[in-house]
Amino acid sequence: MRNWRRLLRISNRSFLAFIFFFSLSTSCLYFIYVAPGIANTYFFMVQAQGMMLRDNVRTISHMIRLYTNKNSSINGTDYPDGNNSSEFIAQPTTYLPENFTYALNLPCPEKLPSMKGQADVNMTEMPMEDIYLQFSKYTDVRNAGHWKPGDCKPRWKVAILIPFRNRHEHLPILLRHLIPMLQRQHLQFGFYIIEQTGTQPFNRAMLFNVGFKEAMKDLDWDCFIFHDVDHIPENDRNYYGCGQMPRHFAAKLDKYMYILPYAEFFGGVSGLTMDQFRKINGFPNAFWGWGGEDDDLWNRVHYAGFNVTRPDGDIGKYKSIPHHHRGEVQFLGRYKLLRYSKERQYLDGLNNLKYTPKITMSRLYKNISVNLSPELAPVADY
Ligand code: BGC
Repeated sequence: MRNWRRLLRISNRSFLAFIFFFSLSTSCLYFIYVAPGIANTYFFMVQAQGMMLRDNVRTISHMIRLYTNKNSSINGTDYPDGNNSSEFIAQPTTYLPENFTYALNLPCPEKLPSMKGQADVNMTEMPMEDIYLQFSKYTDVRNAGHWKPGDCKPRWKVAILIPFRNRHEHLPILLRHLIPMLQRQHLQFGFYIIEQTGTQPFNRAMLFNVGFKEAMKDLDWDCFIFHDVDHIPENDRNYYGCGQMPRHFAAKLDKYMYILPYAEFFGGVSGLTMDQFRKINGFPNAFWGWGGEDDDLWNRVHYAGFNVTRPDGDIGKYKSIPHHHRGEVQFLGRYKLLRYSKERQYLDGLNNLKYTPKITMSRLYKNISVNLSPELAPVADY
């Protein structure tokens, strides 16, 4: 060993430095592989901090220039170059007044006085039974979490699909926030928990496809919300109805410092009408493990001729429930699949999926358990 190093003229110090950096980089790569969610959060946090720093420097230099040249503004406006000025203008609120009267035969409006804006988020864990007692006492949420308003015609029949594995402590927290919010929005709704069993990596997208097919057997839902169990909306004006275009609700996540990580980000919480979801052939089934399936959905939506809308300003803010355990392993094959999004769109999705669900009714949701494996969604060559 020593002879070998002497031959290559490597000093002890360089050898130790090499060993140190080699183990550091392999540990980093291993961490990124086993905990991609956390690694991504760090990455986007650093990126967001960079953006905030750049904005601050810009604002300070703008102020200095204004001070030193009191009578003129830099580009004819009062906003620094490059900023989206709409962020600075208070958005008009056209919410209905408190004394608004509902009519049974008319559709419920979208901007109701009951929707107050910023809502409290409470991350305290509690048993599901307590949540049920809380809601069955004061409202008529019963029968697997179905509810509809009694004073007007709900504008949307919304199925909330929640993919699930080992997150029992998260579900009561999510339902505690969503049920009152959806009631304040006067939407008809029902919850579907689609739980993956078996040993395969988590397949969020395939679970959504299963949830869609199963929910359609119950009722003619016209709007589907694809919801992560650990994302809690902070603002009850984030209206969970659908629209002309697919919608990305979770635009500002606390874990990314409330900055959209990239323009095509479509993760966390998204919503499509039943027709839009059918038209794009649902989610892809081929993404096993963490990452990429939401990017593929973005591609599908755009290849089908849609655009994505997002809530204005702070309405799209969400808090993430802190995790007690590691996330899923990265899906390393995602980049290759994303290169062929277009070719795969109508080969893989709602149309090639077979599964055998096990259904149990809980008082606040319907639980659909499925043991997923790649053979359930074979894909032809492309
Ligand atoms: C992944 C997405 C994820 C996003 C934000 C991307 O690299 O492909 O699935 O939603 O990062 O974490």
